[in-house]
Amino acid sequence: MKSKRSLTLIGAAWCTVFLTGCIPSQKTSQTESLHSDVLRAKSFKLKPGEVLLTFDDGPSEFTLRLARFLERHKIPAIYFMNYHNRDKRGSFRFMDTPEGESIVKDICSMSTQLVANHGDFHDKGSRKPEDFMRTAEALIRLCPRPNYFLRTPGGTWRASEKKPLNDAVIPGVNKRFGDVFIGPMNWDITGEDWSRECQKDITACRRSYVQKTVGREIQKCAGGIMLFHDVYASTMKLILGDNWEHVLDNPKSEIPVESMLFDLQMNRCKFVMPTAEQIREANVSEDAQE
Ligand SMILES: [Zn+2]
Repeated sequence: MKSKRSLTLIGAAWCTVFLTGCIPSQKTSQTESLHSDVLRAKSFKLKPGEVLLTFDDGPSEFTLRLARFLERHKIPAIYFMNYHNRDKRGSFRFMDTPEGESIVKDICSMSTQLVANHGDFHDKGSRKPEDFMRTAEALIRLCPRPNYFLRTPGGTWRASEKKPLNDAVIPGVNKRFGDVFIGPMNWDITGEDWSRECQKDITACRRSYVQKTVGREIQKCAGGIMLFHDVYASTMKLILGDNWEHVLDNPKSEIPVESMLFDLQMNRCKFVMPTAEQIREANVSEDAQE
């Protein structure tokens, strides 16, 4: 059970993307007194009506185009990236190639889009410190920030694994992993955009995602952290509609009426980005209950 205190803190620290200081910034993260470790928590929750878009397993040929579109519309998103994803079902651009590096740098210059750590090789269930260090080093080198979010491949996590990960020193950077990375950040809403079923029947897939996000009452968004994968054309089609290619490549494109983003807006979902402090507070309160 979550303490009243932690809920109050989460509520008080909340802000929307339309206010300043919502993205972890130099200013907010200088609060060294806050616990900055990677912790066990899986229970970070958005407020009702708030939605956060997260995309795993990139970068890919879609990632930068999608980030530019979302940035233009002030819709925040987090890209949980792998240094070199061995799973080649989708359309990957690895972080360890010049093209992958420039995608990370370009997204880094945006104000509403964040790059984050999803492990080095996307080995299922990998949670050992050495499985996150190459991605960590590359993020710090290509996109210097005070902190980054972390999501393990598959979202798996055990409390016993946090100490070795927190204490591991990032090679070439000489910083403790737990002082730079915050999480793990998991998700509330998935419609399995990666699955064959979803790729075969986009309409049903989109309806399922929207229903889970909106809840029972239309025009009243339930909200949550949404999980997608920015490595499939079908995922672009799922969230942007049939004309996704035109939408991504036209620098003046609006949010298509026939898209999941439009569906969410019509149901009063508010796109937000949590601050590093909010995740930390949620993690600290969870951690105290171990
Ligand atoms: Zn993944």
